[in-house]
Amino acid sequence: MLLETRTNLISDLKIDQFFDPQSKYIYEEYVQKAVQYISSFLNNENFYSGELPSNLRSKTHLISANPDSILSVDDALAQIKELYLDHTVAFHHPNYVAHLNCPVLLPAIVGDLIASSVNTAVETWDQSTSATLIEQEMIRWICSKMQFPFSADGVFTSGGTQSNFMALSMARDHYAFQHYGLNLKENGWSDVVSKFRFFCSEKAHFSIKKNAALMGMGYDAVISVSTDDQMKMKPDALVQAIEKEKQLGNIPIGIVATAGTTDFGSFDPLTTIATIAKEYNVWFHVDGAYGGCYVLTDTHQHVLRGIEHADSITIDFHKTMFQPVCSSAFLVRDTKHFKYISYYADYLNPLEHRDEECPNLIEKSIQTTRRFDALKLWFTLKMTGEKAIGSFLEKVHYLALDLYHTLKNDSYFEVAHKPELSTLVFRCIVPGIDDDSIHDTINLYVKNTLFKSGQASVASTKLNGNVYLKFTLLNPKSTIDDVLNIIQMIKETGNAYKNNN
Ligand SMILES: *Cc1c(COP(=O)(O)O)cnc(C)c1O
Repeated sequence: MLLETRTNLISDLKIDQFFDPQSKYIYEEYVQKAVQYISSFLNNENFYSGELPSNLRSKTHLISANPDSILSVDDALAQIKELYLDHTVAFHHPNYVAHLNCPVLLPAIVGDLIASSVNTAVETWDQSTSATLIEQEMIRWICSKMQFPFSADGVFTSGGTQSNFMALSMARDHYAFQHYGLNLKENGWSDVVSKFRFFCSEKAHFSIKKNAALMGMGYDAVISVSTDDQMKMKPDALVQAIEKEKQLGNIPIGIVATAGTTDFGSFDPLTTIATIAKEYNVWFHVDGAYGGCYVLTDTHQHVLRGIEHADSITIDFHKTMFQPVCSSAFLVRDTKHFKYISYYADYLNPLEHRDEECPNLIEKSIQTTRRFDALKLWFTLKMTGEKAIGSFLEKVHYLALDLYHTLKNDSYFEVAHKPELSTLVFRCIVPGIDDDSIHDTINLYVKNTLFKSGQASVASTKLNGNVYLKFTLLNPKSTIDDVLNIIQMIKETGNAYKNNN
């Protein structure tokens, strides 16, 4: 029997699981059922059930990729509730203050559902048509907010890490081309590249070093510049570091300023650093993964001043524009720099078919197949609007300030900094103890105990070698009472540790 005429294969039974006209009603049924389960996730009382990792691991029949029998949508949803929805972490919960995960806006979820169902790939015009125009308009919008010139351009990326990668790689290839006539894209490594150095503050995101390593330059290609007591890069230390590297025979090629450091939300002095970058004729990148969206606020215009001089900018909409992951962008002052990234493949976007009317976004991306993440942002701007987003961000900033003033007057706590954004770093100083290593133990105990019990998720970080706790406030609905409730839990947990040890 020929393969083509075989019937009753398993494929015949499952053929109506495809998103297509024949399955329209099944699609609606599945989505409606899924939505009911997702809504039930919102009924979870705590940010996390507190289920033990060992109990989650023991649900092997649920985790298994090879179920005993193929499930109905009802059974699969019931399983995922038991395995995941009942136990996963709720970023919208007021007691979740750990990392840079935001609660998401409903309009963005609508956009994401459409993007996933239609499954557009913003790769070439012939795979995306008007999706290309929507992404370009979102990029144009954020570039104009940053007061970038008309020559500016950008592309959506998987996140700040990838955006920073693009910045470093463009900066390097541009420097090599401009100063040495080298075409690294085509010809690869050259010895002089071993001497190239980037500069960022010691509070910059780890992805700067990690990306330098991925680019074959190593961690040592990134020079950490010291920060002041507000966790901002010291301009004089930057100049000294540049001069020192030059004396060592190395070649400064780029400066990364952070607009909103991950731990402290501190802004490096952008205008001053822009001037230094210009003086040394090096690339100026601003990592605004966390703070970039604050361009929509009235409160933070002054700390973002100078960003318009950047050669490139990283901005994460999935951190501070209330978008589901992924939604992030890499912006560049001059679109022609994308030539360091672009590749013309015969099967996709041959150079001879290049057409301004029908651009292929792949020419600006290091990804090939890429999600239509710009659609979420389009829905958000259309339905929520930039003014409301700006006011949400101001709210969480003021919440961090309120908490700062409260903790500063509480001898149980030592506060590390005054918040410039919406994080606060502090530690418990349990009365009667003055050994830093015991403080470290207590602060870690507090963090771990609150997480395990499902009561609250607080982050920790290190400052001057000591363990500190960190609140990242990204929920505009949270009140000072909500965060003081977590503070009360921290005190009770810290005291419980002291009484038991
Ligand atoms: C979070 C963060 C990054 C990394 O962004 P991802 O979207 O997680 O890849 C880079 N820089 C800063 C300052 C960040 O806060």
